[in-house]
Amino acid sequence: MFRNAIKIFNIFGIDVELDISWFLVFLLFSFTLSQHYFPQILPGTDEVIYWILGISVTILVFVSVLIHEMAHSLTAIKEGIPISKITLFIFGGVAQMKKEPDLPAAELKIAVMGPLFSIILAAIFGLFFLVLPAGRPITEGVWFLTRINFIIGIINLIPAFPLDGGRVLRALLWLWKDNLLFATRIAVTAGSFFAFFAMGMGFITLFSLGIIWGLWYIVLGWLLYQAGQASYSQVALKESLSGIKVAEVMSREVQYIDPELSISGLVEKFYEYKFGAFPVLDNSSLRGLVSINQIKDIPRSKWENTKVSEIMTPVEDCVIMRPEQDAAEAMFKMANEGVGRVLVVEDNRLTGILSNTDMMRVIKIKTIFGTET
Ligand SMILES: [Zn+2]
Repeated sequence: MFRNAIKIFNIFGIDVELDISWFLVFLLFSFTLSQHYFPQILPGTDEVIYWILGISVTILVFVSVLIHEMAHSLTAIKEGIPISKITLFIFGGVAQMKKEPDLPAAELKIAVMGPLFSIILAAIFGLFFLVLPAGRPITEGVWFLTRINFIIGIINLIPAFPLDGGRVLRALLWLWKDNLLFATRIAVTAGSFFAFFAMGMGFITLFSLGIIWGLWYIVLGWLLYQAGQASYSQVALKESLSGIKVAEVMSREVQYIDPELSISGLVEKFYEYKFGAFPVLDNSSLRGLVSINQIKDIPRSKWENTKVSEIMTPVEDCVIMRPEQDAAEAMFKMANEGVGRVLVVEDNRLTGILSNTDMMRVIKIKTIFGTET
C-alpha cells in the first residue's frame, strides 16, 4: 500500500515508517498552526514563538497518532496477530496486521484500544491544561492537543468499516450472530453510507472552505469506500471456501511430463490435453511444474533442442500443499506467491494439482447453490 515510505525507527519489534504524503501534511499542519491558528489565539506574541509552538504541537499530534496505532498493535500482538509495521500518512496512521483476527472478541479488543488511548491522551492533556496558567503559549498548545486527541478518538468510533468503530460494530454483530460474512456485510454497508456522506461533504466544502479541504474529504470518502469493498470480497471469498479441503477441489487426473521431453513435444501435449500446466516427473519423483507461459519466451527455432527441464519451475520453487489442508489457505498462498496453481503432494507422491480455475469453479457453484451455514 505504501511504496514511498521511509522507516524511521523500531519500537517493541514494530517498524515505524513515514509515507511521503506525511511530509506534505506535516508542512501544511505546522504552517497553518504557526501562521494562522496561534497568531489568532495569542495575538502579539513573537513570530519565533508561533513557529516553535506550531512545529512542536504538530510533532505531538503525530506522536498521539502513533500512540493510537501502538495501542492497536500491542493488543493485536497479545492476541497472537503479528504486526509488520505502522505507517504514518496523510490521513493519520495505519498498523498493518499480518492476518485478520479469527475471533470476534480479539477483533473487538484490538479495535477499541486505539480510540480508548486517544481519549485517555485527551484526558491527560486536559489535566495539564487545567493546571497550567491561562493565556500562555504552552497552555494553548496543550488545549489544542486535548481537543485533537478527543476528535481522533471520536471520529474513529464512527461505525464506518474499516474505521475502528466499524470494526467494533462488526465484532459485536459477529459475536451476536456468529456469522462473519453477515457482520462484515452490515458493517461495510454502514461504512459505504459514511463514505458517500464524506464525499458529499467534500463537494460542499469544495465551494465553501476551498479546494484542498474539499478534495481531502472526497479522497478520504473514496478510500474508505474502496477499503470496505475490498475487505468484504476477501471475507466473502474466504467464507465460501470455508470447510472445503484441497482434496475436494483439486484435479486428480494429472498428466505427467518427462523432464527430457523437448519443447516441441510439450507443445503437442498442450494441444492434446488443453491444460494450462503439467507437473514434471522423472521415474515417479516430482521435479517441477511447466506452464504454457514458460514457452512464450523461447524462440521457435530452439523448440526442438530445448528440454522441459531447462524451462520448468523446479520443485523447490513450486507451491506445495497437502490434500487435507484448507482450500482457502491454498488460495491465499497462490495470491501471495503470484502463481496460478499449487501441487498437491501426499507421502512424497503427487496426488493432484489445484489451479485458480478449479477454485473459481467451486466459488461459482457455491454462489449459485448457496451454502448451508
Ligand atoms: Zn484506530
